[in-house]
Amino acid sequence: MTRVLVTGGGGQLGRSIADRVDEARFAHLDVHILTRAALDLSNLPQVQMTLAEFDPEVIINAAAYTNVDQAEDEPGRALNANEGGAGLLAGFGRRLIHLSTDFVFDGAKGGWYVEDDATAPLGHYGRTKALGEAAIRAQIDNHLILRTSWLYSAHGHNFVKTMLRLATNNADMRVVADQVGCPTSAHDLADALLRLVDTDHLGTFHLAGTEEATWHEFAVGIVEAAGIDVEVEAIATTEYSTRAPRPANSRLDSTAIADAAGIRLPGWRTSLPAVIEQIQALSD
Ligand code: NDP
Repeated sequence: MTRVLVTGGGGQLGRSIADRVDEARFAHLDVHILTRAALDLSNLPQVQMTLAEFDPEVIINAAAYTNVDQAEDEPGRALNANEGGAGLLAGFGRRLIHLSTDFVFDGAKGGWYVEDDATAPLGHYGRTKALGEAAIRAQIDNHLILRTSWLYSAHGHNFVKTMLRLATNNADMRVVADQVGCPTSAHDLADALLRLVDTDHLGTFHLAGTEEATWHEFAVGIVEAAGIDVEVEAIATTEYSTRAPRPANSRLDSTAIADAAGIRLPGWRTSLPAVIEQIQALSD
């Protein structure tokens, strides 16, 4: 059995990992999934004690400060979790599988982003995630940094759940049509992470859904898949102000991990219907 510790167990990725872990194909993994209440990365003695007790061979770091707008007003908290937490875990020398983000890029590239493209985050969240990547690389070779994007799932807060709520309540749906990225099912990502545990792939890879969309295209796809007849108005980013700027293009090219490890996440049109079914089942 490979002992695996998962941080951030209360988040949408952590909970998506918990959904998968009992499947027979992962029976060779002894997975401990800890929420922030049980393992807070800002609590050094607690982290030291937990690692000493469970002695994991692999750590999956799904913990992060993820509120992109609030990070502008709480820079210290975001930095502590995203740089400090990542660096702290790397210091234990266990294989570390860490999640990073498309928001490390500024969106100015014309095409899809590959791993070697220069990072240039637009906001504080992206900056802290880029610093987290650097803190890991500086300390441990045995790491996988996986940049993902636009996560959605039946758990936590995400765009799919927000769109379904607005559509069901007949609220105005005005969605930006000039930001493009790769929606990624956290359930697909969780499956991929568990498959990567027992591999020896190293380095930084992009791992996102393999089909692009603008937020507007994605919103239209969501209401269509849910069978809700509602109009979704396309607007420009300039008409929807947010505290932190977003990259206009953050499409992640996930070819390298497909070539190296045979892992390719489905596109959102494939994965979305099952997630919507799960969301609807949970709200019944
Ligand atoms: P969530 O915000 O849903 O979950 C993150 C979890 O980490 C929360 O349960 C949070 O707890 C916990 N956490 C925060 N700070 C600490 C800490 N100091 N110690 C321990 N736990 C902590 O995020 P996701 O599951 O959506 O994201 C998973 C990963 O994927 C993150 O690394 C994120 O940066 C990355 N990512 C996410 C994207 C997305 O669209 N969501 C896109 C691209 C990358 P609490 O809520 O109590 O603070």
